[in-house]
Amino acid sequence: MMNTAIIVVDELYDFIDGSMACGHAAEAVEETVNLIRKNHSLPVLFVCDHHPANHSSFVEQGGPWPPHCVAGTHGGDIHEALHPFVQEELTFFKGCDPAVEQYSGFDGHNAAGQSLAEVLGLLEVELVYVVGIATEYCVRNTAEDLLRAGFKVSVIKDCLGYVTLDGHEAVLPELEAEGIRLI
Ligand SMILES: [Zn+2]
Repeated sequence: MMNTAIIVVDELYDFIDGSMACGHAAEAVEETVNLIRKNHSLPVLFVCDHHPANHSSFVEQGGPWPPHCVAGTHGGDIHEALHPFVQEELTFFKGCDPAVEQYSGFDGHNAAGQSLAEVLGLLEVELVYVVGIATEYCVRNTAEDLLRAGFKVSVIKDCLGYVTLDGHEAVLPELEAEGIRLI
């Protein structure tokens, strides 16, 4: 079996039941816990939207989104059902720079300053299972960047939340056409 890791994108309260609550988000968290338990020997890497209060993606700054995932708030926390699997060195933050929108977890950094890609390299990972919220934005961008970087990428459909069901259903075949496997 190829060296594999699970990447959990933005399973954070603001995307589950907060300011940007997404469809199928609570179910995605439950299914993610099941996936991790079934594959208990695999490393689990968490990607977290982590914004300053004046982030450029927020409406008051002229951006498209309501304030969300502000660092230090409940809305920016990983869902508690996932806490048993969270390790600091495998937790990556993105969107930290007020001026830069960052949908992809690929350039996220952990507390030690290592990027997601760097840590995947250290773990000698070849295949990634990508799950999380939302299909159309951060899951999509993270999966595509990983594919471009040479990883084999599988997206686990049951473990996804989305902004709209139509958007979710439109994106999945596009990902598949690019070479990402849907499971
Ligand atoms: Zn954000």
